[in-house]
Amino acid sequence: MKELACLAIDTVRSRGATYGDIRIIYDRSQTVATRNGQVSSIGKEETYGFGIRVIANGSWGFAYSSKVSKDEIARVAKQAVDIAVASSKVMKDPVKLAPEPAYETRWQSPYIINPFDVRDETKLDMLMKIDEILRKNKKIVAAETFMDFIEETQYFMSTEGSWIIQNLLRSGAGYSATAVGNNDQQERSFTPVFKQTGYEMIGNIGLLENAERVREEAVELLTCPDLPNGKKTLIITGDQLALQIHESVGHATELDRVLGFEANYAGRSFATPEKMGNFIYGSNIVNIVADATLPTGLGTYGFDDDGVAAQRWHIIQNGILQSYMINRETAPMIGLNRSKGANRAEGFRHIPITRMTNLSLLPGDWEVDDMIKETKDGILMDKNRCWSIDQHRLNFQFGVEYAYEIKNGKKGKVFKNANYQGITPHFWATCDAIAKEKYWVPIGVPNCGKGQPGQRAEMSHGCSYARFKNVEVGVSIKGAKNKEI
Ligand SMILES: [Zn+2]
Repeated sequence: MKELACLAIDTVRSRGATYGDIRIIYDRSQTVATRNGQVSSIGKEETYGFGIRVIANGSWGFAYSSKVSKDEIARVAKQAVDIAVASSKVMKDPVKLAPEPAYETRWQSPYIINPFDVRDETKLDMLMKIDEILRKNKKIVAAETFMDFIEETQYFMSTEGSWIIQNLLRSGAGYSATAVGNNDQQERSFTPVFKQTGYEMIGNIGLLENAERVREEAVELLTCPDLPNGKKTLIITGDQLALQIHESVGHATELDRVLGFEANYAGRSFATPEKMGNFIYGSNIVNIVADATLPTGLGTYGFDDDGVAAQRWHIIQNGILQSYMINRETAPMIGLNRSKGANRAEGFRHIPITRMTNLSLLPGDWEVDDMIKETKDGILMDKNRCWSIDQHRLNFQFGVEYAYEIKNGKKGKVFKNANYQGITPHFWATCDAIAKEKYWVPIGVPNCGKGQPGQRAEMSHGCSYARFKNVEVGVSIKGAKNKEI
């Protein structure tokens, strides 16, 4: 493998590239899924190929192939340089990369059991048990369960002397129940768990233990009232809070969007560079940290696809905007001399782009019971159902599966079709309570979409419960679920 990588590097150098890297990637994935007692997916997929990225005449060039051979690597290396030279004819400013040391090393996801060594029958047996529990109530018309596994082996070499081998293994599982009755249809899900770990997680995440609750809550929702419109104190949990962080902080602080290079999928951002170090993004208890070293995080790695070592840094500290998701190209544009290591590509077919690492709201000092007890007129919302946010990442609206009122510190009525909306910095400024570390969990997002051609990436958002004051809540318009977030 090293010989093939060296060939790419020698070829791009001899053709005049001032920088070049090759990523040779083998990955395999599997989705095992059931629907109403039938197997709906069990297939395994494999891909193998390489991408070569260069800078020549100050411009980027990129080419890839799924045929890993000496001849093809030499051909694609030349093609990448030719593309860069052609691109340089319309170049505004030559690309400058922030310096990074060269590394010769290997990085491996920690795990105990490789899911690709586990028999399909074992996986299906667990999913079928869940399916059976979910369909015990006649009002459930659709029970869907799944497990996802992906293992990616990447070989990275650059003209700067790096030779990095990484093996990333990710596992996920979840399920949902759809109930019909009372002229309505409602879905309740087990918040899917995605981690960078092995099959050992499957027995430890409460899959079976929660199936009855999920089923009964789906049925319960059919006879619940819609959430009335109004301003309430809002407590958000789990993957809904994760998505709030993802959409209103994560994408808003990707420096390529901030600088205007990325406008797809509600690109751009209000969080412009003159705000760095002084803009009040949230209340002073809001601390949001990017961390590519977070144990079990989906966005955890040794090195990004620029060959930059994984780091941890504050995006928001005590409520103030401090930094961004930054790669080697954008770091010098805001006066920094090192990338934060947030440049990643989906597979070998894509050029790396600025990507969120794991991004987490640090825990506070509240017990959840106290947070609820000290809420007079509030709503607790759980499990995202749909979302939208404008291209500046300012105005947002989120719908959830399940919500209940809190009256004078006690749980009250359950509501369906609950929704809240806000404006990013105003919303985060009303955050007045965050639960303790014991409630804090990293929630994996396996389907973040960005770029054109579109690329998928994965990351986790650590969060506990958080409370926000004076939030606009009400009934949501039922819409199609968002496929990418
Ligand atoms: Zn996303």
